[in-house]
Amino acid sequence: MEKLTIALTKGRILKDTLPLFAEAGIEPVEDISKSRKLIFDTTLPHVRFVVIRGTDVPTYVQLGAADIGVAGKDMLLEHGAAGMYEPLDLGIARCRLMTAVMRDRELPAGRIKVATKFVNVARQYFAAQGTQVDLIKLYGAMELAPMMDLADVIVDIVDTGNTLRANGMEPADTIAEISSRLVVNTSAMKRKHESVTDVVERLRRAVQARAAND
Ligand code: AMP
Repeated sequence: MEKLTIALTKGRILKDTLPLFAEAGIEPVEDISKSRKLIFDTTLPHVRFVVIRGTDVPTYVQLGAADIGVAGKDMLLEHGAAGMYEPLDLGIARCRLMTAVMRDRELPAGRIKVATKFVNVARQYFAAQGTQVDLIKLYGAMELAPMMDLADVIVDIVDTGNTLRANGMEPADTIAEISSRLVVNTSAMKRKHESVTDVVERLRRAVQARAAND
């Protein structure tokens, strides 16, 4: 089979990804959490994992440095999906991309200041709403921005909503339902068709088996 590199998102998504890959018969040969390495062989001799930040996964797959990737839909929406197929919703790391506002605070009448890591998604969303916004790119702790009067609204990932509530905020509108997706480089899909299809079908069966047991 052709050699394959699969880019995985590190952190909390990895904890959900590895059990699903194990159910698909693809496991790293050493414990990723106990290693500082970035590249890992797997129980399939022709397949290796690279473990990187979620924001970098679409870049690796789009440019063909990785053949396949596991990335949050939020990352794909923000990055754009050119050069990639998205054959499978893995159904893991589910959450929502939402707007959120301060509890008990009115929005200003004119332009609204929006703080987010997802500036492209936010720009498109507010343009479609016909709302005039000033976008402020942040890299972390979005919920701090309204408290510090840096922003009126944030666009962020919401799971339980606890982070928002702990900071005097509340979720407002859902922009997108998020889960992790399998993405495939379009040229790898052609050049490495047999091994790519094998991995996609293994994971498809694992996802279906989970759905059947729900
Ligand atoms: P929560 O307090 O449960 O609403 O979690 C909110 C925070 O957890 C967000 O600010 C995100 O940074 C992070 N988070 C929760 N779920 C995910 C996910 N599926 N993917 C990435 N980040 C997440």
